[in-house]
Amino acid sequence: MNWALIGASTIAGQYIADAIRAQAAGEIIWVVSGSQARATSFADAHGIANTTSDLDQALQDPRVDAVYISSTNEKHHAQALAAIAAGKHVLCEKPLATTLVDAIDIVGAANAAGVMFATNHHLRCAGSIQAIAALVADGTIGQVLSMRIFHAVHLPEHLRGWRLDNPVAGGGVIPDLTVHNADVARFVLGEDPQNVSAQMGVSGMGQGVEDSAMSVWMMPSGAMVLSHDSFTHPFAKSGIEVHGTKGSIIAKGVLGQDPEGTIELTTKDGQQNIPFAKHSLYVETVRRFVQAAAGQGAPAATGLDGVKSLAVALAVREAARSGIRQKIDYGDRA
Ligand code: NDP
Repeated sequence: MNWALIGASTIAGQYIADAIRAQAAGEIIWVVSGSQARATSFADAHGIANTTSDLDQALQDPRVDAVYISSTNEKHHAQALAAIAAGKHVLCEKPLATTLVDAIDIVGAANAAGVMFATNHHLRCAGSIQAIAALVADGTIGQVLSMRIFHAVHLPEHLRGWRLDNPVAGGGVIPDLTVHNADVARFVLGEDPQNVSAQMGVSGMGQGVEDSAMSVWMMPSGAMVLSHDSFTHPFAKSGIEVHGTKGSIIAKGVLGQDPEGTIELTTKDGQQNIPFAKHSLYVETVRRFVQAAAGQGAPAATGLDGVKSLAVALAVREAARSGIRQKIDYGDRA
């Protein structure tokens, strides 16, 4: 599969370029940036033959089979629609867009065009998250009562740009991290949150957008999910707890970009560490995408999964802004 990277971004350089090249016959033949100088320097650093600041130039190349979109969030919609119109498969970063209408629009366009479209919710591809989901699905912990997701990190210096000061670009911890929590909760619990209550604030980094948020989601089964997201916590680390009538799962350090962390299961029989596969999250995400584009199975996270995680995040922000519990609107066309 020949790829064009749309966005000379950190995530493309740190993880996705290697993940594409880890696939059999995975080639990157273009990088597209809003700035020709940035495209050139990214291409030099990552060994990519063609660069442009004109998206159409890359999309008109018939050798390009697929694009990976990792620009800032407000650009995803127009870039995805252009790629879909050109008949390319699309792996798009989360959040899919800055509004629900735009996210639904993208997924509808991909369906109509018959191209593969997937969301890069990489955590579904973590061996740890898959092991937790399996323990829930096989009834090991009984009926789930509650889930707590701690995604309170310390944003590295080099990422402290648009995420902290640009609401138009989709900045803020809610579009950045709460979307991941929403996808993890949906994946692990197998149901979609119904309504949310929330608070958000600024705790040292945000300038015009929230850098911290806490929210509580009610699931159709009656289970409650507590989601804690922040950019400002140096030592909190990430984690997931799932508590059921027959057991509790306590996982630490499992919401990062690498296959790390620990999972501890406690039941009436005692406590045990749960082993899990340590493959690359991003190589697995791209592998599932390539297979799905070839007609084999589904991508790890579909376009609809991306619509739903965005819907939860938007409801969290609105609940925090208004102080009023929000019923989650997944969009009647989703
Ligand atoms: P970056 O800030 O690194 O890149 C985003 C865009 O900013 C780039 O596409 C680029 O625009 C521009 N840019 C990059 N470097 C500079 C610079 N030095 N000066 C000016 N502009 C610059 O963002 P991330 O890589 O962290 O995130 C990109 C997307 O990926 C977001 O949608 C984010 O939510 C998502 N993401 C997903 C992750 C996951 O695991 N699923 C992890 C991290 C991010 P241009 O393309 O025009 O050159």
